[in-house]
Amino acid sequence: MGRRSGNPQGRRARALTDKTDREKRTATRLVEAGRRKEWTGPVVNPPVWRASTHLYPDTKALRSGPARNEDGRFFYGRRGGPTQWALADALTELEAGAAGTVLYPSGVAAIAGALLAVLDPGDVLLVTDNAYDPTRSMATGLLKRLGVETRFFDPLDIDGFAGRFCDRTKAVMLENPGSLTMDVCDAPALAEIARRHGATSIIDNTWATALGFPALENGIDISVMSLTKHVGGHSDLLMGSASAGERWYRELRRTAQELGQVVSPDDAALALRSLRTMGLRLKASTAGAVAVADWLQSRPEVAQVLCPPLPGAPGHDLWQSQFKGGCGLFSFVLATQDASARAALIDALDLFGIGFSWGGFESLAIPFDAGTMRTDSPWPPESWPGGATLGIRLSIGLEDPEDLIADLERGFAAMERA
Ligand SMILES: *Cc1c(COP(=O)(O)O)cnc(C)c1O
Repeated sequence: MGRRSGNPQGRRARALTDKTDREKRTATRLVEAGRRKEWTGPVVNPPVWRASTHLYPDTKALRSGPARNEDGRFFYGRRGGPTQWALADALTELEAGAAGTVLYPSGVAAIAGALLAVLDPGDVLLVTDNAYDPTRSMATGLLKRLGVETRFFDPLDIDGFAGRFCDRTKAVMLENPGSLTMDVCDAPALAEIARRHGATSIIDNTWATALGFPALENGIDISVMSLTKHVGGHSDLLMGSASAGERWYRELRRTAQELGQVVSPDDAALALRSLRTMGLRLKASTAGAVAVADWLQSRPEVAQVLCPPLPGAPGHDLWQSQFKGGCGLFSFVLATQDASARAALIDALDLFGIGFSWGGFESLAIPFDAGTMRTDSPWPPESWPGGATLGIRLSIGLEDPEDLIADLERGFAAMERA
């Protein structure tokens, strides 16, 4: 856990540099973020502080330890040490408007941490109908058991959304673009409506990160990410984060401490190392995704390409006006309704691995059937021809897009034979 002004020494340094920090460009901030002298010492990266016990000089200091529950203060391993503080601090610096960031052992844990920090029994939660599946299950499972009532909403129907609020509506859970179907919603408008109704807005910002969509600057109260994806970037760690302004940061932190959430310093060091190249990786994988998506669009086997950064794709105009960047994750829908043909395509791929998660340096492909998931908004939309529903989600890595296209071409040939 780390706040901008967390520790007394850091606070003084921060006051002097705050203005210039804000003016720095993103690439520069990615290099410098979280690298405070008191955490790095004379080396470039903060060392891995493996520790459960933190030692006190005497019993007097021990007695005052628990009372001084501040960021950047040694206490006990569950509140982290300099390696975790450096990562949290770096993420806070990258999220304009954040007072602090809480780290969680996975993205799902971060979503749970944010929802549990905001909701009480009897509250109503509005969840976007295209939410990540574990978010749905959390709402209809754990949160229901705790007395929270969830209503799903169509994220593209702003008027319908405004009509969903009642006096018990406490929070709104957004995700943009939506998982699998990649629909882009007007998140600033939805957050503004939530605020007018006194509800707290939370966004799962894993796809865009703060680089592509500065969520708090866009009026959202809490920005959640699965760091497993772009921040980790190498398919070798699981972690999550939630960043917020002062009020919600306090609540997130308290709830995370009560739940005993902590991340390992080894994983925090890996995430920090990877964070330095996140901007470059996102640029390269976005360009790769657009190249592959553009090619897919020309194929007769493809009914619809769902890639917001691709000109002409659904949601592109909104993406263009509200996002500052994208990533390598997108979907497409096959013209065929034959699931075994789709399986033949995916199984024939050589460069694309078959597996969950995404955002690594290597490309992945998985099938999905979005028609069966939603409860409030039919998918595919009625305006699409043919009613095709067999989807494939691709996570484009750092390979040469021409090789990925050749691989997909092989896949289509195998599908043809099947
Ligand atoms: C993967 C993912 C998560 C969960 O992340 P984990 O770190 O795997 O728990 C949450 N939201 C979205 C949109 C994801 O794709």
